[in-house]
Amino acid sequence: MSIIEQLTESLRCLPGVGPKTAQRLVYYFLKNHRKQALILAKNLDEAMNTVIQCEVCNNFAVSEICTICKNPNRNRDLLCIIEQPTDLLAIEQSHTFNGYYFILTGKISPIDGIGIHDIGLNKLERYLKNEAVREVIIALTPSLETQATLQYIQHIVSTYPVKLSQLAQGVPTGSELQFLDPITISTAMKNRHLIDA
Ligand SMILES: [Zn+2]
Repeated sequence: MSIIEQLTESLRCLPGVGPKTAQRLVYYFLKNHRKQALILAKNLDEAMNTVIQCEVCNNFAVSEICTICKNPNRNRDLLCIIEQPTDLLAIEQSHTFNGYYFILTGKISPIDGIGIHDIGLNKLERYLKNEAVREVIIALTPSLETQATLQYIQHIVSTYPVKLSQLAQGVPTGSELQFLDPITISTAMKNRHLIDA
């Protein structure tokens, strides 16, 4: 396989990129975007080799603890549970939340064989034990898996003096946080409602 073919093939790992698009990208870079391609390659290499998961919250980080967990000026009372680092960015951009985050590494799904031990809930339990959290805010995309996951989170939270709340309307059913605009997220955060723990 020639290097051009190899490059085309490796670009196909990108979501939504088929053989034709991959080919177009390769020619785009080779023709007159070599400098940008080299910067892309360098940044990819560095990011893939240095970015790790935060020990505390599972966010992407370049040191053991991420910049948000390290920040002493946020509100220790609040912990927001989300599905992925892009949700964290979306909430941060809505400027409505000043607490800390916990990112699940998956959702409970018996059909796929994903149980409570696969989604990092023991880390959440450790978090609640170590920090004086007063409110846990659930910001998960509604689905069957979310229901099962939520039940288990409720179970964990119920052993601590912690309120449990959930983002309110404004978040359309089935839509992922990362694709919502900051105003929708901000409304949902302000109107969050308590769940019986
Ligand atoms: Zn963190």
